Amino acid sequence: MFDPIVQHRCEAVHSFAHSPSSNPQAPWRAIVAVHSTQRGPALGGCRFVPYSSDQAALNDAVRLAQGMSRKAALAGLDLGGGKAVIMMPEGVFDRQALFRWFGLCVERLSGEYITAMDAGTQVGDMDDVFKHTRHVASHSQIGDPSPHTARGVFLSMEQVITQILGQSIGSSRIAIQGLGHVGMSLAERLLVAGAQVWVSDLDAERCKVAQQLGATVVAPDQILQQPVDVLAPCALGAIISAETVDALQCQAIVGAANNQLATAQIGAELQQRNIVFAPDYLVNAGGLMFAAGRYHGWSDDRIAEQIEQIPSRLQEIVELSEQRQHPVNVVADALADEAIALGQFSTTQQGLEREALWNL
Ligand code: NAD
Repeated sequence: MFDPIVQHRCEAVHSFAHSPSSNPQAPWRAIVAVHSTQRGPALGGCRFVPYSSDQAALNDAVRLAQGMSRKAALAGLDLGGGKAVIMMPEGVFDRQALFRWFGLCVERLSGEYITAMDAGTQVGDMDDVFKHTRHVASHSQIGDPSPHTARGVFLSMEQVITQILGQSIGSSRIAIQGLGHVGMSLAERLLVAGAQVWVSDLDAERCKVAQQLGATVVAPDQILQQPVDVLAPCALGAIISAETVDALQCQAIVGAANNQLATAQIGAELQQRNIVFAPDYLVNAGGLMFAAGRYHGWSDDRIAEQIEQIPSRLQEIVELSEQRQHPVNVVADALADEAIALGQFSTTQQGLEREALWNL
């Protein structure tokens, strides 16, 4: 039980169980992993998916919680990282009652953990959680974070295209995998800015909408190898792998999907091929900034200002990567881990002197 907690350097893991009177044979089980509260309360979504075992659920919770700490730290937010997983019960269950019970679990942690939507949960579920705790950052009164995520990705892409590739966004060619909440919003922004956009999605209706906006639709198995300036993965994780890396024909990867690199070593493969990789958890932090901002009662201007800082942070990390000759993902992880430990984000000048980079 303790191995994954130690491996991911998690501060605490809380387990909750409840046997509902309607079906006591299928108890509700939830795990809340609090990776770090060094910078503030641990914010992170709640997954509601089937797990093959308690161990699989625990592994997922601690791994994802560490990712949230890194994301909040690089975003410069006064937040730590956490994640909840609710193991989907077998058979019939009362969904509303389950999420209200989960709200009580979160409330017992007295604000140490702030929950939000994640795979398998919807805004309505978070409204049920909100009935028992105020420590929720994505109920219906807060709103959809996706356009803010898309804005952060768009601004990051603009930075890469203009400052690193030396082109203009209006003359650039972009391929987007996935036209969901983030991908469609990103496609709209790019088309308005004059870029040429290729898209793919498993959902033909979404492809049709993007086509009407001016994008060119390609088959899902063709999108990664489009000859473009920037590839924007906005669907699945682990899509840049040993199997796909050789087929890439882009100069940069800037997208919203979490955990795009199948392994950390793929970052070095991209570096060898001169493909700029924008760390996913840095460029997709706009949604987190929006949710955290709303939770803390920030103004819309303050949230927008936070999101506008993402590109300069990306530029710093890419420059550090070039200066130190380490892959961008390795530099980002090292700086994020140090920011978690120190409780602050270092600027470029401090970053150059950081022990974290000397020790890589
Ligand atoms: P979504 O579920 O709304 O959209 C995902 C889209 O990808 C769907 O339209 C789906 O049909 C499509 N898709 C799935 N497999 C595909 C494939 N093989 N090829 C092409 N398309 C495929 O999700 P979203 O909210 O837009 O998020 C997209 C990604 O960004 C996810 O990885 C998510 O974890 C990450 N992310 C989202 C946010 C946010 O604010 N929504 C924030 C941070 C990270």
